[in-house]
Amino acid sequence: RSNAEKFEFQAEVSRLMDIIINSLYSNKDIFLREIISNASDALDKIRFLSLTDKEVLGEGDNTKLEILIKLDKENKILSIRDRGIGMTKEDLIKNLGTIAKSGTSAFVEKMQTSGDLNLIGQFGVGFYSVYLVADYVEVISKHNDDKQYLWESKADGSFAVSEDVWNEPLGRGTEIRLHLREEAGEYLDEYKLKELVKKYSEFINFPIYLWASKEVEKEVPADDDESSDEEAASESTSSEGDSEEEKEDEEAEEKPKTKKITETTYEWELLNDVKAIWLRNPKEVTEEEYSKFYHSLAKDFGDEKPMAWSHFTAEGDVEFKAVLFVPPKAPHDLYESYYNSNKSNLKLYVRRVFISDEFDELLPKYLNFLMGLVDSDTLPLNVSREMLQQHSSLKTIKKKLIRKALDMIRKIADEDPDESDDKDQEVENSEGNDGKKGQYTKFWNEFGKSIKLGIIEDAANRNRLAKLLRFETTKSDGKLTSLDRYISRMKPGQKDIFYITGTSKEQLEKSPFLERLTKKNYEVIFFTDPVDEYLMQYLMDYEDKKFQNVSKEGLKLGKDSKDKELKESFKELTKWWKSALASDNVDDVKISNRLADTPCVVVTSKYGWSANMERIMKSQTL
Ligand code: ADP
Ligand code: MG
Repeated sequence: RSNAEKFEFQAEVSRLMDIIINSLYSNKDIFLREIISNASDALDKIRFLSLTDKEVLGEGDNTKLEILIKLDKENKILSIRDRGIGMTKEDLIKNLGTIAKSGTSAFVEKMQTSGDLNLIGQFGVGFYSVYLVADYVEVISKHNDDKQYLWESKADGSFAVSEDVWNEPLGRGTEIRLHLREEAGEYLDEYKLKELVKKYSEFINFPIYLWASKEVEKEVPADDDESSDEEAASESTSSEGDSEEEKEDEEAEEKPKTKKITETTYEWELLNDVKAIWLRNPKEVTEEEYSKFYHSLAKDFGDEKPMAWSHFTAEGDVEFKAVLFVPPKAPHDLYESYYNSNKSNLKLYVRRVFISDEFDELLPKYLNFLMGLVDSDTLPLNVSREMLQQHSSLKTIKKKLIRKALDMIRKIADEDPDESDDKDQEVENSEGNDGKKGQYTKFWNEFGKSIKLGIIEDAANRNRLAKLLRFETTKSDGKLTSLDRYISRMKPGQKDIFYITGTSKEQLEKSPFLERLTKKNYEVIFFTDPVDEYLMQYLMDYEDKKFQNVSKEGLKLGKDSKDKELKESFKELTKWWKSALASDNVDDVKISNRLADTPCVVVTSKYGWSANMERIMKSQTL
């Protein structure tokens, strides 16, 4: 094209496209849901803007917030159009080619090992999936702030952008035209498209129409125009009962003047039901529906079901509906840059209108692994996002969401037969809960770190979170156990909860600090994750029991009658020892009853860092 400007794709994007073009991935269907999801995002954006400025919607067809799919069998073109926000020339250049999203290289890497393209949407590069089925793609777009532009690429490392003086004006929005590859002809089949929209785009909150063919029977004149005129004339008199009968008699004698033919006409056929799932009564939503809804929210279309969900309505001063999910797996970047970003997976709606999926005020950071949405009736609609962010009812919403989220997680544990130490109950449970067996261990392996971060960050819910904590101990036999179960096994007279920190269970099992405790049959918790050291600075007690690091000063194992005597007889030795070691090396030298076979150990002071913490800090400053 004469007015086209040419651009090179950013290197990672180019690599990604190469992989997609050459992929043997069999599930090519996914491109459609990616395009529809982009269309839906674009519609959400313009609807959001229209809340504060009605003018942005324009008039006529432009006000219809819809998605339109059209097939051109002859030219093998599938086009998907939306009346969303559209893209300016600059948007087209940036969004579709020159600025790589942070997920691009992560996805390329994943692609090369697994070849599974299903998660493409999660990595923020869903658009490029069009090259699974097309070898040439045109994107026509009109944004309110710019002229209509055309983006096009044959995925040969470059794309072109030009002012669109060839196509009909869109009014506003975007049309994606896919010139289908030879082997992708099935996407020109209406039936196939209807099925795909049903399957993948069930939860899109805008109407999706297909320009669908319809066979209609039509009566047409048998010979010429004259007879139809006559027919029209006779019809107009047919309201008079008698004359109609007469007419019919008349007609029976003559040869028919009209004949029936079937004709193909086209019309916009609505493919989806736009009733939002969260507005329905939870009792009427099936497990399967929740599962599918989760997949569409998470852009994760694997076969794994979410581990748990919670669908509820909050009433009172602040009214909202919410659906929360625990995903089956942690997202790839969950703990990457945890302290720098606050990427929430919760969508905020206000009275059915999508507001944002980047609202940090709804959940605390440590619950960012949850997926879901909140639809509030209390928040005002016609204010900016910034003003919403400061609205007082957000605090109440957040509080309730946390409570519900923690209940939902606790329920995973409650329903997991592995979580019970009581044998009888285990048998009873295992019948109906087969699918739930081992679920909490699975949860813990994926998201346990989030619970620990929660204990550190959320003082108000510390006790509730501590209930969710799992760990191994000297007695747990390689399995996970909880604080409640630890407490139930405490020896009579045992006041503190004992724990030890280190790099691995194997290393800790050999620790001299455990000798005496093990001999005396005390249970000791192993904390082997670096975050555990921080955790234990915040978790001081649980159910009125204090935590005692067994490698620190202050360990009390009950009085021994010989203690005093020993202390007395070794008084001179301890004195000498302390003076022999420089005073900035040790604080004190004491007789202790904590050891069994080892003659002496170095213990850290109650308020100082443990040896393990020293090690962690050292590795961080290096
Ligand atoms: P994501 O949707 O995760 O951002 P995509 O690769 O699917 O990633 O899309 C890239 C970007 O292109 C989008 O973020 C959006 O800015 C833009 N885009 C794609 N399709 C449309 C559309 N139909 N209307 C407006 N913008 C779009
Ligand atoms: Mg997308």
